[in-house]
Amino acid sequence: MTQDLYNKIIIAWIVLGAIVFLINLRIVAPYGRHASKKWGLLINNRLAWIIMECPVLLIVIYFVLPKYESLSMVVWILFLLFTAHYINRTFVFPFRIKAGSKKMPLGVMLLAVLFNVANGFFIGYYLGNFTGYDSSWLLSLPFIAGAILFITGAFINLRADSLLIGLRKEGQTGYSIPNGFLFNRISCPNHFGEMIEWSGYALMSYNLPALAFAVWTMANLIPRALAHHKWYIAHFDEYPINRKAFLPGIW
Ligand code: NDP
Repeated sequence: MTQDLYNKIIIAWIVLGAIVFLINLRIVAPYGRHASKKWGLLINNRLAWIIMECPVLLIVIYFVLPKYESLSMVVWILFLLFTAHYINRTFVFPFRIKAGSKKMPLGVMLLAVLFNVANGFFIGYYLGNFTGYDSSWLLSLPFIAGAILFITGAFINLRADSLLIGLRKEGQTGYSIPNGFLFNRISCPNHFGEMIEWSGYALMSYNLPALAFAVWTMANLIPRALAHHKWYIAHFDEYPINRKAFLPGIW
């Protein structure tokens, strides 16, 4: 594929991400606390996470690793950060959650597979074929600032997910009000951290597929954080009124 054609496709993908954002504001993705039987067959929650996150990891590895002899240091770093995130999300996170016998609609899982296959293809294909970074990019402002944002976002995301998972004892499936860390300011620091992480990745990569991935992450997670926040207020009379959804003090 020529880079020109690739760029046209990815711009269309970014526009689609913006449309999906508007749709997600109206239709809450029905998994976790918003789960619904209306979306067809149900599948074990843990298994669904593994199946839906696996493709992105495999596809990126498929496109990048065969080129290992010619990869620049920058591409190695971008590849390793990306795969580290997805190794956690695919093979660690699903075994940490306390899901009991909770299930996820198959339709949600299939949509997530589609999202992950497309993003895995765009990022993997780009890193394997088009990158022309030289080593001076490692000392550039976008790379350094982006790396700091990526690490900060990953830390916030991991810490917040750990605190949420720790709210339940083994076998429990109910919800309680999370407190401490950034939870004192916002309802969904895990989503906030993930958005910072991929915005940082887009900055340090400075390419269209990483930008597309950040846009799609926001398209998924801003509406989800808003829905979670609304859900907390509706279900807990004592929910702290000064807490925002995902942007401290703002939104
Ligand atoms: P949630 O915050 O909905 O849930 C995270 C885990 O914590 C789940 O196991 C959930 O249980 C549990 N949990 C959440 N809140 C409570 C509570 N108040 N009391 C007890 N347990 C709780 O996160 P998501 O499922 O939306 O996402 C999981 C991870 O995946 C996040 O890190 C997110 O950033 C990431 N993600 C990334 C996307 C992207 O586009 N890049 C898209 C979607 C998710 P239960 O499932 O039973 O509700």
